[in-house]
Amino acid sequence: ETVFIAREIDPGEGRVSASPETVKRLTGLGFDVVIEAGAGFSSRIPDSEFEKVGGRIGSAADVGSADVVLKVRRPTSCEISTYKSGAIVLAVMDPYGNDDALAEMAKANVSAFAMELMPRITRAQSMDVLSSQANLAGYQAVIEASHAFDRAMPMMMTAAGTVPAAKVFVMGAGVAGLQAIATARRLGAVVSATDVRPASKEQVASLGAKFIAVEDDEFRAAETNGGYAKEMSRDYQAKQAALVAEHIAKQDIVITTALIPGRPAPRLVTREMLSSMKPGSVVVDLAVERGGNVEGVVSGETVDVEGVKVVGLPNLAGRIAASTSLLYAKNLYTFLETLVSKETKSLALNLEDELVKATLLTHGGAVVHPGFAPKTA
Ligand code: NAD
Repeated sequence: ETVFIAREIDPGEGRVSASPETVKRLTGLGFDVVIEAGAGFSSRIPDSEFEKVGGRIGSAADVGSADVVLKVRRPTSCEISTYKSGAIVLAVMDPYGNDDALAEMAKANVSAFAMELMPRITRAQSMDVLSSQANLAGYQAVIEASHAFDRAMPMMMTAAGTVPAAKVFVMGAGVAGLQAIATARRLGAVVSATDVRPASKEQVASLGAKFIAVEDDEFRAAETNGGYAKEMSRDYQAKQAALVAEHIAKQDIVITTALIPGRPAPRLVTREMLSSMKPGSVVVDLAVERGGNVEGVVSGETVDVEGVKVVGLPNLAGRIAASTSLLYAKNLYTFLETLVSKETKSLALNLEDELVKATLLTHGGAVVHPGFAPKTA
């Protein structure tokens, strides 16, 4: 059976879905591995590195005979039309609100797995692409912020005077936010953070940051069984906004990371709040691809809002592709390994497996995921 490693079509996507380590392991499992020429280029993995571990370099046309296609982003219509019927496709599928794309994959009879729907259970930790990518995106957000910031991050006492430490406020203390806190602390900033999930309070404190939140009854019940945040009521949002407005005026850098699965990102920072910040302050909005946490953020641009630089870089994980690709590739490999039968040493989908149930979007010509299947009347 053949695994195909696609070169990403999106020009803004530098990541790749395999590494020399995973190609070696895939060949060890008995797969023929074909890597589309140049697939690893932006992740600093030359084709020769894949060849050294038993991979074969091919072209886009080779996907037609592949049993498994590994990708970073959901395949386009054009790509899908070249896949073999029955092929397994692993990618970040971005399924919410993309019914047409799912229908297309079903029609092409591919078994499409959305890696971002992997349940957050111990068994699947090593397959969790949201965590592996958000972790490095959180780090990168602080690096981008420090780059846009005209001042120093740490306090510096010199013979010529003292430079104060930057004040950094992280909104949303999930995987990305916690890494942003840790990174800003390493750079010497004075860090505070907020979230709506009570579990985050202790995690923020353990990283040496101050926790700021409206801790009412709704806050105490804001975490879903899956570990994600609920969408908060208007009343809560108003209380949160009042608290944030007061705090944000004193901050130099704000990093926002707040997301709610399947919903637009919550709006946490208003234009009015931005205008209360000192000129030269920096806001990095990691939620920009889901509509943004910050009013006025523009995807792919740094805009000036009343003297504040609002950075709207999409796909921060892709900006450090040489690091994130290695983790992403490992996530995909670990999951793919579970789709191979130990007895027959060949692909065998177990539709009863909870990991398969949670991530399989389309199979056997239909959209099969309960969250996305067309509702029958
Ligand atoms: P996410 O990317 O969905 O959201 C980022 C953060 O934004 C979350 O912490 C969320 O609570 C917060 N948020 C949402 N609405 C907000 C609002 N209105 N105001 C402020 N903050 C808001 O979350 P994530 O980073 O994927 O993490 C979700 C949870 O899953 C965390 O508890 C994390 O520790 C947990 N997790 C568990 C495992 C595991 O057990 N295997 C793996 C990874 C993550």
